[in-house]
Amino acid sequence: MASSDPPSSSTPSSSFDRFLRKAQLVTGLGVTDEERAKDLEALNVRRCEKMKKDLMESSPLVVFMLKHLRLSGCQVPEENIFCVPCQSPYTTTNYTAHAGAYLPHPHGALKLCAGHFFSTQHVESTITHELLHMFDECRFKVDWTNLRHHACSEIRANNLSGDCRYFRELRRGFVGFTKQHQACVRRRAITSVAANPACPSLAHAERAVNEVWESCLSDTRPFDEIY
Ligand SMILES: [Zn+2]
Repeated sequence: MASSDPPSSSTPSSSFDRFLRKAQLVTGLGVTDEERAKDLEALNVRRCEKMKKDLMESSPLVVFMLKHLRLSGCQVPEENIFCVPCQSPYTTTNYTAHAGAYLPHPHGALKLCAGHFFSTQHVESTITHELLHMFDECRFKVDWTNLRHHACSEIRANNLSGDCRYFRELRRGFVGFTKQHQACVRRRAITSVAANPACPSLAHAERAVNEVWESCLSDTRPFDEIY
């Protein structure tokens, strides 16, 4: 049967043909996979940029961190927090291996991996986490190749940013919350330090985190400072 012939069977088949044709158009007939991927990438970047902008204006956590960075002499322009497509947030060569990364001096910028976020809250805790690294560098002259310095900043960032918020929310109903929250902070800090190019092994990361654990967990600046 030539393709121009009407379908031999009755209505259901011809309406199915029409449906198929429409579906092909909607899914991009003649559009390559690469073009489709690029389109999705651009959409993810726009979504991420919009969430970032909203959070910089109205998230209490992000606004608080930006204010304290400014008061410490480190103003963060909006364009220094930027969304880009990332291959995978877990293969970055930066010092943090999350959906975001702090690019230390001389950049002083935060990279957000568009398309790797589950929710606005995830973007919020990621920005806050990376801003805490920026705050540490701004205030305390961090040497990111020193594993103890890096470990301290990771403990603080994971403790204070909401990265372990799931456990924080369990606080009301569950005994043993503190232990779970601290286990989350410790695990995430070790993972990040282990991803530091200056870290030879997981054991080195664990040791660095253990060595500075007490003092850095109790250091909640700038959250305990009142201006
Ligand atoms: Zn980090």
